[in-house]
Amino acid sequence: MRLLNIGSINIDYVYQVEHFLRAGETLEATRRDIFMGGKGLNQSVAAVRSGLNVNHAGVLGKDGLFILDFIKSVGIDTRFLTVNDTVPSGHTVIQVTPDAENAILYFAGTNHLITKEHLCRALDDLTPGDWVLMQNEVNGVPDILSEAKKRGLHTVFNPAPFSDEVLSYPLELVDVLIVNETEAEGILQTQEKDPEVLLDKLRARLLHAHLFLTLGSKGMICELSGPVPYRRLFPAYKVQAVDTTAAGDTFVGYAIGAVMTYFEHGRIEDFEKRIDEAMLAAAICVTQAGAVPSIPDIKEVRKQKV
Ligand code: ADP
Repeated sequence: MRLLNIGSINIDYVYQVEHFLRAGETLEATRRDIFMGGKGLNQSVAAVRSGLNVNHAGVLGKDGLFILDFIKSVGIDTRFLTVNDTVPSGHTVIQVTPDAENAILYFAGTNHLITKEHLCRALDDLTPGDWVLMQNEVNGVPDILSEAKKRGLHTVFNPAPFSDEVLSYPLELVDVLIVNETEAEGILQTQEKDPEVLLDKLRARLLHAHLFLTLGSKGMICELSGPVPYRRLFPAYKVQAVDTTAAGDTFVGYAIGAVMTYFEHGRIEDFEKRIDEAMLAAAICVTQAGAVPSIPDIKEVRKQKV
């Protein structure tokens, strides 16, 4: 089974500043770093490091060619990742203060240039039963969902970052929904905080999907749909948190393998073992700074387990 991620890729320009920029002010930054990021890229990296066969489709600008080289180097298929000559890659300008607060300016750039023809070409390369993943940082999510379903593909949607547009998406076409608490509250337009109640409400909205609600350091609660009721809370591994960037993305990339296994064999023990690895991978990720460099591979996860 293959995974196609039609996903965002960003260049993160991170500036250390004494305080956030005020209106009209010119402020000198004390340091600048450039990182690759974007939820799409992070999730593709997590999925390939978990051992899946991953194809990443999307659009980069010429300023993002260094990321293309990286993606190829980690074994992700890039046949449907195109380069646009005139528009810059998706990027963020991030201010970070001495007390580690951040303020992020996001420009979608080439992440919003995915055409229907482009996504259909990528989907046509798959066979029924393969998997398609998307987040909410690229354009065309409703088209991806409907075209994927027409082709008999399984769909995984992580509506991050949440925007009100998601409310108009055909969520009934989603087979696996993975959300954090903010995204769940956004989809449901509620202030409800109780995870069990949020999951009940998500079930009422998405009758047939497998549901995953991540709860930060409290762990994750999931409900598989099907004739036999299955709902379980997986507590988070206890670790010293250094930087939670990409924790959710690491969980998503790893959890897809668990769901694939469940679809293929229907064995709950195998599913739980893979979910446990996803929880451990996400916990390892928060013990290290950065996004892509902090996503562990499956060997590291299994080594920590013993
Ligand atoms: P997001 O990054 O999308 O907001 P969460 O914060 O819910 O997502 O984190 C996703 C998963 O990462 C959690 O379900 C948990 O498994 C793991 N995780 C996040 N923060 C911690 C933490 N402080 N300690 C251990 N695991 C964590």
